[in-house]
Amino acid sequence: MEKIYGIIGDPVAHSLSPVMHNAAFGECCMDCIYLAFRVPKAELEDAIKGAKSLGIDGINVTRPLKEEALAFVDADDVAKKIGAINTIDFSSGLPVGYNTDGIGSIQALRESVGEIKGKNILILGAGGAAMAIAFYIDAAGAEVTIANRTKERAVQLAFKLTNAAAIGIGTDIKKDRELEKQLKRADILINATSAGMYPDVNTTLVNADMMHPDLVVFEIVYNPVETKLLREARRAGVKQIIDGVKMLVYQGAAAFKIWTKEEPPIAVMETAVRNALRYK
Ligand code: NAP
Repeated sequence: MEKIYGIIGDPVAHSLSPVMHNAAFGECCMDCIYLAFRVPKAELEDAIKGAKSLGIDGINVTRPLKEEALAFVDADDVAKKIGAINTIDFSSGLPVGYNTDGIGSIQALRESVGEIKGKNILILGAGGAAMAIAFYIDAAGAEVTIANRTKERAVQLAFKLTNAAAIGIGTDIKKDRELEKQLKRADILINATSAGMYPDVNTTLVNADMMHPDLVVFEIVYNPVETKLLREARRAGVKQIIDGVKMLVYQGAAAFKIWTKEEPPIAVMETAVRNALRYK
């Protein structure tokens, strides 16, 4: 019988997960389908219970439901520490929650830069994605600085980590001396904010003048693939650039493995996402 997977969120129509997972199922000749379901926050609990009752095998959870969904699943220890889930597996009969965003980010980073232990990493943002990324990077032994527009959220996140500091980002980034100072020290800059995401395509929190040539710039926004931050990074001639598609594919691949116990066809998933983004 065909297995059913899907993604819940609000909005969700923009999600590239259906195209990515359906390409993977096709490549692996699996009798599975992946669908998108718009679920308002108020109906989240009903949706998770309903998915289980309908025999749906697994779901991804996207904004703005990742934190709230934790209350309706039996989450693994990492997801509990992060405080959010993005994947639910129903194969045991109970909804079990995982957070594969952090796994996806660290795989994308390690593929490009190798070992990150001891590296100085500046993370912009303190929302759901930043929390998952920061948790994995901190656990890998990097020195983390969280920089966020709302400083209080940066402080709260840094407090949960073992080796992290927090700063607030001012409204005029070009005059933000603290941000400039942190960028000079950073080996890796990660944009984990939604600044630069479609339709806000001409926004960046860091411009070329603030970057140094040995910096690695990792963007997690994937629509557009070439964000303003990445254009600035190319202009500055930085050492390495990693776009948001990599993390999207690796977090999806980790969910695929949790659900199917099979090796995900990563190259096929990446091609499906990059092709779909050409028409966005
Ligand atoms: P979120 O929980 O809503 O957090 C948004 C973060 O961005 C907050 O830290 C917010 O700061 C900051 N922010 C938003 N607009 C800003 C601006 N104009 N200037 C400065 N800071 C700004 O969102 P999220 O779930 O973490 O997602 C963040 C981005 O990552 C989204 O674009 C999402 O699509 C992307 N993402 C990508 C992947 C992937 O696999 N590539 C995975 C997950 C998420 P405040 O705290 O001050 O509001």
